[in-house]
Amino acid sequence: MSAARYAVIGHPVAHSLSPRIHQAFARQAGIELEYGSIDCPPEQLADQVAKFAGTGGRGLNVTLPHKRAAYGLCSELGPTAKRCGVVNTLARIDGGWRGHNTDGSGLVRDLTERRRQDLRGRKVLLIGAGGAAHGVAPALLDAGISALFIVNRTDARTDALADLLADPARVHPRYYADMDDLGPFDLIINATSIGHGDGGGEPVPLPGSMLTPRTDVVDLSYGRAAVGFLAWARAAGADRLFDGLGMLVEQAADSFRIWHGKRPYTDEVYGELRREFGSPLASA
Ligand code: NAP
Repeated sequence: MSAARYAVIGHPVAHSLSPRIHQAFARQAGIELEYGSIDCPPEQLADQVAKFAGTGGRGLNVTLPHKRAAYGLCSELGPTAKRCGVVNTLARIDGGWRGHNTDGSGLVRDLTERRRQDLRGRKVLLIGAGGAAHGVAPALLDAGISALFIVNRTDARTDALADLLADPARVHPRYYADMDDLGPFDLIINATSIGHGDGGGEPVPLPGSMLTPRTDVVDLSYGRAAVGFLAWARAAGADRLFDGLGMLVEQAADSFRIWHGKRPYTDEVYGELRREFGSPLASA
């Protein structure tokens, strides 16, 4: 019998670490699987997903820029995916796909368990309103943060995310131009893909006054893509800087559990990747 087939689908996807992470988890669990990557432009998503299902594919991780569109391809949704409005994990079910979202649980687990942070009562700024921001916002609220300010290049998407979260007492959409008077934050999360642009992307137009040495700053990307934002944060006075490598491993472990019924240990894979990538600003 041939091994069960899984893959990550995105655009671009060549540098995704997901195949490596899932193969490591499978070895740990004693499961035989094939895990590939599918580079797929947005207009081909539905066809490629159907083709993968037609050739026996059991599960997909969905990455940038497809998380919102993949939501629309699901015949069933898990409760977290329903709340997020985006999916990062598809599991094959009878005649269709069940969509899940593990980005939020992955980020919160990385912050609370690996980095020993208590998110309760924290004032948080979320930059971005794309797939990743939709994935992490509900989990941050569930972790007990006191306020979630959201800012994004396209204002209509900021408002749409705030509406979806339906928690007006804690969720505050803002324009970039109106960020001056908000005072310092406890946690700032870059959930944009700015860093993937040429030369690390342009700087975020945010006032340095929102950072203190006690502000935790997280870029959800890792490697070179995280350098520009984290270097800006360090120059503005923040000392506690994290990239998205830990979240990447934790969200993968939650996807693995959905597909195979067993959550793998993550420390070994995370340690190996961290040694390879170095600290977040190592490549600055
Ligand atoms: P996405 O759905 O394509 O959303 C991209 C976001 O970035 C949008 O908010 C977009 O704003 C903003 N953006 C893009 N270019 C910009 C620019 N030049 N200036 C200002 N804003 C810009 O992508 P995504 O899936 O949310 O991914 C976002 C980031 O999170 C990526 O770096 C990805 O690698 C990372 N991520 C990491 C993990 C992990 O496990 N560590 C998981 C998921 C995502 P508009 O709405 O205005 O277009």
